[in-house]
Amino acid sequence: MTAEPTPIRGRCLCATVQFTLTPPTAFCAHCHCQSCRLSSGAAFVTWTGVPHDRFAITAGQDRLRWYRSSDAILWGFCGDCGSSMLYKADREGHHESPKLDRMYVSVGSLIDPMDQPAKVHVSWEERLPWLHVNDGLPKHRGKSDEVIAE
Ligand SMILES: [Zn+2]
Ligand SMILES: [Zn+2]
Repeated sequence: MTAEPTPIRGRCLCATVQFTLTPPTAFCAHCHCQSCRLSSGAAFVTWTGVPHDRFAITAGQDRLRWYRSSDAILWGFCGDCGSSMLYKADREGHHESPKLDRMYVSVGSLIDPMDQPAKVHVSWEERLPWLHVNDGLPKHRGKSDEVIAE
């Protein structure tokens, strides 16, 4: 019998909204798309994700708010401090095909170490023009498998 892995904790800036992910996480990627930049105010957002049954809100459920940016996509943030933390799709049809059975979580919202490092840059073609990255990770067009040469 294997013990359940220790959950990875995350929270918003004011700590009203708190949550856990139970490893293994499904992926870890830096996203350079404009939507991520606008939502976060950061140059890019590092995302991970788990199936919904491995994600739990542990505090502040009533303060967690969702902004619907399209028919399919919801962005989760703290209604008190505004921290942007979560992303999910609740309908098929988005051109990037986010998985319906997955809670996407911004790695910057985690307060425990993750079980894996970032492994790829996605939507690299949308990066800020002055951003130079020399980490040896592949850089993909959108969320496709197409690698963009630098
Ligand atoms: Zn907050
Ligand atoms: Zn993005």
